[in-house]
Amino acid sequence: MRFTSLPTFIRTLYAFSNTTRIFPGTSQRTLNSPLRDFLPKYYMPIPFFGSLFSSSSSRNMSYPLQKSDDEWQAVLSKEQFRVIREKGTEAPFTGKFDKHAPSTGVYTCAACEAPIYKATHKFKSGCGWPAFFDAIPGAVTRHTDRTLGMSRTEIVCSNCGGHLGHVFKGEGYATPTDERHCVNSVSLNFGPEKDSEGTAAGSAKV
Ligand SMILES: [Zn+2]
Repeated sequence: MRFTSLPTFIRTLYAFSNTTRIFPGTSQRTLNSPLRDFLPKYYMPIPFFGSLFSSSSSRNMSYPLQKSDDEWQAVLSKEQFRVIREKGTEAPFTGKFDKHAPSTGVYTCAACEAPIYKATHKFKSGCGWPAFFDAIPGAVTRHTDRTLGMSRTEIVCSNCGGHLGHVFKGEGYATPTDERHCVNSVSLNFGPEKDSEGTAAGSAKV
């Protein structure tokens, strides 16, 4: 019989928590303090929920190559893991491919080696990160990223879901697409183009 008091207790608690909304000072503390404990000081609740939604939706996408965080940590450097798996951003003007301007070759995903960009897609944007106006067909998957109170288009590797960077449109660069794939150098490797264009495009769909 003692257990029957539990629902009553919950009802009372619920009624109390509703009642506290009448008193602004109390309700703010009651409702927000558990949330605030999770947040860095510069994050407000709404971007936080956006961030939660965005990262969970792109993480829950199923990509052909699946690995656990432990498996990724074993094959990636600390900085690669932070950027590629935790969607971090490298500091501008520091990446090894920022000023890299070869005439041929392929940039591959640093996590899974899937071909992502050709050297001929790269252009000089001056933004501090490697910039590409297009990608190998199918190599990149786009998500809406609502972190930091902005709505941006995140790009990830279609094979492993690794974070590459963001795409910006309509900035007026004199390129065929007027898009800038702003990519972290740490998310990429570079090597010679191994096969014909058809093979590269085909392998990107895997
Ligand atoms: Zn990848």
